[in-house]
Amino acid sequence: MKPAILHVDMDAFFAAVEQRDHPELKGLPVIVGGSVEGRGVVSTASYEARKFGVHSAMPMAEAHRRCPNGIYLPVNMKKYRAVSHQIMEIFQRFTPEVEAISLDEAFLDVTGSQRLFGPAEEIGRELKRLIAAELHLTASVGLSYNKFLAKLASDLDKPDGFYRILPEELEAKVWPLSIRRMMGVGSKTAQLLEQMGVTTIGQLARMDTGLLEHLLGKQGVLMHQVANGVDERKVEPVRESKSVGRETTFPQDIRQQYLLETILFTLTDEVCHTLRSNGLKGKTVSIKIRYPDFHSITRAITLERYTASFEPVFAAVQQLMARNYKDGTAVRLIGITVSNLKPDGQIVEQQNLFGDTAMVEKQEELNRVLDRINGKYGGDTVHRARKITEREKTGELSAE
Ligand SMILES: [Mg+2]
Repeated sequence: MKPAILHVDMDAFFAAVEQRDHPELKGLPVIVGGSVEGRGVVSTASYEARKFGVHSAMPMAEAHRRCPNGIYLPVNMKKYRAVSHQIMEIFQRFTPEVEAISLDEAFLDVTGSQRLFGPAEEIGRELKRLIAAELHLTASVGLSYNKFLAKLASDLDKPDGFYRILPEELEAKVWPLSIRRMMGVGSKTAQLLEQMGVTTIGQLARMDTGLLEHLLGKQGVLMHQVANGVDERKVEPVRESKSVGRETTFPQDIRQQYLLETILFTLTDEVCHTLRSNGLKGKTVSIKIRYPDFHSITRAITLERYTASFEPVFAAVQQLMARNYKDGTAVRLIGITVSNLKPDGQIVEQQNLFGDTAMVEKQEELNRVLDRINGKYGGDTVHRARKITEREKTGELSAE
């Protein structure tokens, strides 16, 4: 059977949820994001706000300049997560093959569901109908025979759209589009190609693979494939969360290593606490540093064993900082993520060769005690000994 892949993308998700819950905001430019003072960014702008040129990831200060009369709301992640669960639950009625790629976006492989629920097109339209009827929100759905094209399709008829790309329609529907619509094509790559006169997906599809590989490496080869309608990636249901992370944008750039590490100290504590309260342990620790020019780097270390303990994670963070940060360099945002996660119960560790098991157990016991106390007294009662300066959390996620 030919693959049938749906990509469902909620329209202006965070803003739409707010407009639904506050009907007086319907028809108004609603912007959900961080604060101006905290140098936050826009998470989602309603379609009314987009008319003013406001879009996600734009600094809030710029949004205020473009849309001074907008309705500015903070990110209510707890609420959006709850709605996201409801959306994902609707998807699950049609297939277990659901790959959520953010709170408001998912791929569904409905190839096998068609026997039960009818053609993929009907399933796609039924999803939209259920989301509207039960959640009073709109979604745009793309249907095609691979992930790349399904995602492209959902974007071609937004908002509240339904768009299908059949194999025989590739040349007519996809090739005339700009290469900038391709997943994973950043503006640098796009500029490079445009300088060579390659502006459409069709032109890219007809380029010489060898030349593309020479120019862009492996990415060039992949781009050539997807431009020709070939994308072998499977829809991969994510049964566990893949990572836990926290990041912070500073009101003013910070350039002192000790300050950055103090902030990372607290972020690490929060991340480890989240891991433990979800019964998870992780093996890969990464830091993210964003510079004032918005350029970011991410660097990771993989640990010897799975952990949710503060000490080994923070030791990795310090190592990453020592290797990748030079004291005095201005930093705009810093973050830490633990990934490569497993549920605590599923981890079978090899006996540690150096016999530091006792130490590990001690750390775990300390964490359990701290978690118990914090749980009992409603959080944040006991902290490890270090305080940090005021900071502002920005929305980690954005939603179109
Ligand atoms: Mg969206």
